[in-house]
Amino acid sequence: MEKNQPNTANHGLNMSHYWMPFTANKQFKTSPRMLVSAEGMHYTDIDGNSVLDATAGLWCCNAGHGRSEISEAVSKQIHDMDYAPSFQLGHPLAFELADKLCQLSPAGLDHVFFTNSGSESVDTALKMALAYHRANGQSTRTRFIGRELGYHGVGFGGISVGGIGNNRKTFSQQLLQGIDHLPHTLDITNNAFSRDLPPHGIEKAEILEQLITLHGAENIAAVIVEPMSGSAGVILPPAGYLARLREITQKHGILLIFDEVITAFGRVGEAFASQRWNVTPDIITAAKAINNGAIPMGAVFVSNTIHDTCMDAPEGMIEFFHGYTYSGHPVAAASALATLAIYENEQLFARAKSLESYFEQAVHSLKGLPNVIDIRNTGLVGGIQFSPSDKGVGKRGYGIFDHCFRHGTLVRATGDIIALSPPLIVEKSHIDQMVNSLADAIVAVG
Ligand code: PMP
Repeated sequence: MEKNQPNTANHGLNMSHYWMPFTANKQFKTSPRMLVSAEGMHYTDIDGNSVLDATAGLWCCNAGHGRSEISEAVSKQIHDMDYAPSFQLGHPLAFELADKLCQLSPAGLDHVFFTNSGSESVDTALKMALAYHRANGQSTRTRFIGRELGYHGVGFGGISVGGIGNNRKTFSQQLLQGIDHLPHTLDITNNAFSRDLPPHGIEKAEILEQLITLHGAENIAAVIVEPMSGSAGVILPPAGYLARLREITQKHGILLIFDEVITAFGRVGEAFASQRWNVTPDIITAAKAINNGAIPMGAVFVSNTIHDTCMDAPEGMIEFFHGYTYSGHPVAAASALATLAIYENEQLFARAKSLESYFEQAVHSLKGLPNVIDIRNTGLVGGIQFSPSDKGVGKRGYGIFDHCFRHGTLVRATGDIIALSPPLIVEKSHIDQMVNSLADAIVAVG
């Protein structure tokens, strides 16, 4: 396309300049899916069609869309004070928000560091782990252990501990050194169509002991896992697995980091997955639903031990030389406070729990449709896995996603897995609608 020549097929937009993230740009631009407004459980696309949001945007909008409480808080804050420097200066909302967040976080994780995204939360958490060990006189502890299929954002730290091949391949020479990966816990042979935590696979946690024997505990800083992997296709921890990781890490003085960028703020029926599965890590990363996706914001929750050790770092050692221009941004903080108030007033985390069994029955009703090889669920999240088509891995998943969208339901495809993660305000009728739409797409795509 000529530079600055609008493509009239695309609603008069010149689409050539915007390089879209994680999108097959050429394919998208030939047949774009464009959203222009949102209210409650629905988006409206550029042609005026209503699209049921079965994904809470990208796992962000847990309170549903168009919440006036949030937009009013945002516009008031921009009016009162648009920005305040985040270094050496403070503003009350960031402190108020940290206080509120730490009323929700697991006991003992009573400190929070603000970031602007999940990727930044992860890289911050990794750096904090190193800072803690150094302040604690154990500066040989520098290795990290992630997990296959783990997604921890796109910073160099995050892709290094992450375990998704496509995110790493192009950058393989530049990844952080000293990283190992535990095996992933997806096991369709033994766990297909199980509900909530799958019964088989706790023994995969024992590989951690092998890695510790190989490298020496004194060289390992932290283990990082998503308690439930979202981006790789809703992979649940086998029963007892997270508790076993906690026991092993604790025994060896290794920090445990839970990446809860997807699971925090009610997705699995509690504020945090750590609470749902009763395992408390040393650090939790969060973002997304912290403020309903309204403004970029992330947070890292830190144990009192890590926090206090860094604060009391030996003379001459800086407590934590790290931060962002927009850490604790006043407008983001205002949006998060308004969001947390909605979660509390409407008891949305409890609502997710109360709808779980209905949602579970609904997603498992897809069993038996063509090419469905596994269905997984917990809280208000479900994953439906398909066998790949002969056209290639991911083609069937993409086809189903596209069909659903064109017929009025937004689902999320990762490879040949479709994930559902509706806003927590979802009604049973919406659940029926999203599952019916998916069933139609599965049959149509074949
Ligand atoms: N960690 C996890 C577990 C995630 O799911 C994501 C995003 N889906 C991230 C980190 C990265 O977040 P962001 O895209 O906000 O950088």
